[in-house]
Amino acid sequence: MKNKIITRRNFITTTAAGISACALPLQAAKLLTAKKTIKTRVAIIGGGLAGLTTARNLERLGITDVVILEARSRVGGRTLNLRSPQGHHLESGGEWTGPGQDRVQALATELGISQFPCYYKGDAIFELGNTTHKGLVPRVGLGDSKDFISAALRLHHLGKSVPVENAWLAHNAKLLDQQTLADWLIANVPNRAVHGIFSRFTRAVFTSYPHHISLLWYLFYMNSCGGLWSLMRMEGGAQDSRFDGGSQEISIRMANALKANVMFGEPTKEIIDRPGSPVIVKTSSANILCERVVVAMSPADANRIDFTDCLEPERKELMASWANTPKLPALKVAVVYKSPFWRKKGLSGHIMGDTPPVQLTFDNSPKSGEVGVISLFLSLIEAKGLTDKKVRKKAIITGLAKRLGPEGARPIYYTEKDWARDLWSTGCVLPLKPDVLHRVGHTLRKASGRIHWAGTETSPVWCGYMDGAVRSGERCAVELHKAIT
Ligand SMILES: Cc1cc2nc3c(=O)[nH]c(=O)nc-3n(C[C@H](O)[C@H](O)[C@H](O)COP(=O)(O)OP(=O)(O)OC[C@H]3O[C@@H](n4cnc5c(N)ncnc54)[C@H](O)[C@@H]3O)c2cc1C
Repeated sequence: MKNKIITRRNFITTTAAGISACALPLQAAKLLTAKKTIKTRVAIIGGGLAGLTTARNLERLGITDVVILEARSRVGGRTLNLRSPQGHHLESGGEWTGPGQDRVQALATELGISQFPCYYKGDAIFELGNTTHKGLVPRVGLGDSKDFISAALRLHHLGKSVPVENAWLAHNAKLLDQQTLADWLIANVPNRAVHGIFSRFTRAVFTSYPHHISLLWYLFYMNSCGGLWSLMRMEGGAQDSRFDGGSQEISIRMANALKANVMFGEPTKEIIDRPGSPVIVKTSSANILCERVVVAMSPADANRIDFTDCLEPERKELMASWANTPKLPALKVAVVYKSPFWRKKGLSGHIMGDTPPVQLTFDNSPKSGEVGVISLFLSLIEAKGLTDKKVRKKAIITGLAKRLGPEGARPIYYTEKDWARDLWSTGCVLPLKPDVLHRVGHTLRKASGRIHWAGTETSPVWCGYMDGAVRSGERCAVELHKAIT
């Protein structure tokens, strides 16, 4: 990454002279008043994993005349390393990786970032329904367990009809998309305890409930991640390992190695794609004139941008529907201790329960184990009495002490990231409501005129994950290269 100010030769800065140099038709020129004007071949909107990977791969394909516009003052998007006063990285966004997530892992290796296995030795604590127990897996009655496995296998079988490349083309796409996961459970699984298991799982993995999400989208997502077991498991599954130094480091190193200019604090407000003119990308301080644009973010986030004289109604509907799908607002908390004291007690630090605030925790200590970190996920919709941060912090620390032991009451640091209040990310994993994907899903990846789409949600493999974001950037760079050379 070159410095954040605009220094490169290919940037035509400000003024009418710059504008006329671009030989814009009068109508377009009128739009470009009093802001600096920048001319580039490709503008990438979004400096998360998808946008940065697009730029990195374009560079490898010989296209270096690229500007990245990032709304925040940092790269990494939904990955975020907060830092404790003791100097430890606290991963407050995406963090886990596992088998099959080859592209993000290869990228991390290229950038000199190693992986280490998560700590999952010892007993987890389960507080489900009226029972509390310790063990490796939740204890459910034999009947419930058989019914759960049977339901999971039926879903797996149903999912075989849904192609990951284009779920909307499944022969039964409409039927699957016009029901929610809850509809399917009600119609096919008489055992209500199994509904409860799916509900907890959907809450943890999809930040949503079964009655909010399309069955078609659920099956697609599951397939894209190698199946339900792969999503659920820690060891050998999606929660197997972590990146040493925190996952945001991947984006930071990628950005540092780029020739492209990354412009921070530049939220894109509008994109204008009119035949006969360069594409115009408008931020509050600049107008960027370019041959092509990449929108590298979730469709829900892209919905905040105005697209003038471009985009088919189906694409607009896809973005608006994604933005409007009900989701559980997620808060990710890190509680730091002098040491991972729970390990000595034979506990893994993993807690799964029904009652907030201690519903879902993991051992998130650094590889060295020199401090202990518990990360906790919480949705304030389910914890209405905990909207005040001080009250919440106290309840969380008391809850951890109750479960992990008295040392839990003496953290050396506490921090939290409230993704629901984040201006630039609509959420973590973004679920999709029924009756959208089968009708307008074909616009998910397909370029709209000179506007190309990247972002984890566009990936047929590990959709929703960091790996999907990297894959989407790789795909998008090839697509752009073909389009402009
Ligand atoms: C709490 C949490 C936990 C997660 N856990 C995991 C996990 O364990 N493993 C895993 O693999 N994944 C996990 N994920 C998901 C993972 O982080 C994402 O899939 C991935 O980071 C998405 O990358 P992206 O580049 O597609 O999108 P983003 O990271 O969302 O990047 C989009 C970028 O666009 C920018 N932007 C948005 N609007 C504008 C605008 N108008 N103008 C300019 N810039 C804009 C944003 O600031 C952002 O930088 C988690 C996410 C969260 C939030």
